[in-house]
Amino acid sequence: MPIHEKSLIRPEDLRRQEKLTLEGVDVSGDWSTFIGTRVITDYNEQMQDEIAALPGGEYIHRCWQCGSCTNSCTVNAIEPRFNPRYWIYLIRMGLEEELLRDKDIIWQCVSCNKCTYACPRDVVPEGVMKATAHWLELKGHTAPSPSTVFDEEFSAQVFATGKIEDGRVLRRFFAATGQALRQPWLESMLRGLIARLPLTLLLKLGLATLIRPRTAGWAGARAAISEHVAAQKQAERRALGLAAQEGAHR
Ligand code: SF4
Ligand code: SF4
Repeated sequence: MPIHEKSLIRPEDLRRQEKLTLEGVDVSGDWSTFIGTRVITDYNEQMQDEIAALPGGEYIHRCWQCGSCTNSCTVNAIEPRFNPRYWIYLIRMGLEEELLRDKDIIWQCVSCNKCTYACPRDVVPEGVMKATAHWLELKGHTAPSPSTVFDEEFSAQVFATGKIEDGRVLRRFFAATGQALRQPWLESMLRGLIARLPLTLLLKLGLATLIRPRTAGWAGARAAISEHVAAQKQAERRALGLAAQEGAHR
């Protein structure tokens, strides 16, 4: 699979030879380890299957490396290191260490789905980016991203009450991510809402923050959802070999 748009020589791979003579020829200067001996011993042969086991990663095997995803990518236009095509290549090759070099960029996908519409093979690259970010978190390579923390707070409240109380979700999200509750954008939004929403609705919203209303008869739905989510998480951990590791440590 060819790599067109990515330099294979990283700055850290360059070696400066101040004075080097080979067979009488002065070859001093910058050399790249690209032409040195390189032995890769740490292939993760399960990597494609692991990503494919997570939501969004199912169709990664279809990729034929045309590069249309990267060409159309919103984030790549401002951050050239954000390269869905290249990461899909690394995953399919099992080059885990190489992928980990970019672990702090992959989560930056903004889910615009331009890549999804551009892809001629229905790989759904947006889904693959989400699955890869999720994989990095599950494997412990990255801390849970703010969006993961938000999803967990949001889901926990739905599971508990069958309803969402926005103020509670935001408060808990800010606390979990170490952010101040008073944010200029939030105060500005609240001022706008207070100026525009009917008084009765504002009173209902205020009351909801105090009494935490619940959906009637929610217990059955909560049990079914919780069971499904737990089974889903367990299946993902099994697919990544994490469940077996946990069992061995018990
Ligand atoms: S969904 Fe993500 S990967 Fe796809 S084009 Fe948008 S930012 Fe890029
Ligand atoms: S557009 Fe689709 S087929 Fe082409 S490189 Fe991206 S994921 Fe692969």
